[in-house]
Amino acid sequence: MNLNKQEIETWLRETNSDRLSELWQMADRVRRRSVGDAVHMRGLVEISNHCRRRCGYCGLQAGNSRVPRYRMSAIEIRSSAAEAFSYGFGTVVLQAGEDTGIEGEWLADIIRTFKRETGLAVTLSLGERNEEELALWREAGADRYLLRFETSNRDLFRAVHPPLKGAASNRFDLLRHLRELGYETGSGVLIGLPGQSYNSLAEDICMFAELDLDMVGSGPFIPHPDTLLGRGLGFDLLPPEEQVPNTALMGYKVLALTRIVCPEANLPCTTALTTLNTNDGLESGLMRGANVIMMNLTPLTLRPFYEIYPEKSCFTEEPAETWPRLKNILEALERSPGRGPGGRKHGLG
Ligand code: SAH
Repeated sequence: MNLNKQEIETWLRETNSDRLSELWQMADRVRRRSVGDAVHMRGLVEISNHCRRRCGYCGLQAGNSRVPRYRMSAIEIRSSAAEAFSYGFGTVVLQAGEDTGIEGEWLADIIRTFKRETGLAVTLSLGERNEEELALWREAGADRYLLRFETSNRDLFRAVHPPLKGAASNRFDLLRHLRELGYETGSGVLIGLPGQSYNSLAEDICMFAELDLDMVGSGPFIPHPDTLLGRGLGFDLLPPEEQVPNTALMGYKVLALTRIVCPEANLPCTTALTTLNTNDGLESGLMRGANVIMMNLTPLTLRPFYEIYPEKSCFTEEPAETWPRLKNILEALERSPGRGPGGRKHGLG
């Protein structure tokens, strides 16, 4: 099934609950037909919160002197990542701020050893790194790379994600390059950025299909007080009828529509969604198109410092408590933890 941009925008503006139930059901049907009932588990390790960028949305931005900075050691990374193996997950995701202190060879070595010892899939989410590093990590065995393009509106992107001196950022080029290197590529956007219109969000969703992404994760924008956007500086809202709200409901609409336009992609129920809907955020996501859960394996002592937005829903719980809780949720939904690495399956259904 395919939706055009106008139809997508109409769905994004839909408020009627019966119509929205239809959208959820449609997404759930497409999910079941295209990727089945398995829910792939990823263990997320936030390996460093150093960052050279000054993104207007993110609490880790370089100008935020309030956040104590950390970079996990190779041994710490290995032991957190090994937890993914012990829970039977297929993938570990290594995420960080754009930290040049994470050196090419150093990380390549960690990836190589981890792959050799566990055989798990490795996903990287380290921002805009140079071509040599990306090639090196791919050769070392990294399987996937996540890089959200955040918004396809160029002016808005530049405003919320200022370029480094003398180096324009083009995340679309980088995504293409990652694909050429043989990475499975993932992207996504922020939902409800000040200045983001319905039309532009509909364009983002069309882009997901056009880029033929293997993974798409999007979540509502949650203001952080130590950022420009969080302080309401320098960015104007659009008229209310044009401005996308940064709500959980809008997050679900984007998730469901993404499933419909990218039937075979792996779609996580993102932490931003479960943060905004602590009640049944995860269940709803899994019933509205999602087939992936990222479980946080960062040591509890470090988690408060990886505060990209406030009140992230995973600050206080040990993985040993989280995992049984998640398993119960899956069981109640008659879904089962995925087996194997859980890469994108092409041409199913
Ligand atoms: N440095 C890496 C990883 C960033 S964290 C990179 O830039 O790719 C992963 C994602 O968190 C970002 O891509 C962004 O979409 C999301 N994020 C950052 N700040 C956020 C906020 N305030 N609210 C919601 N999501 C946010």
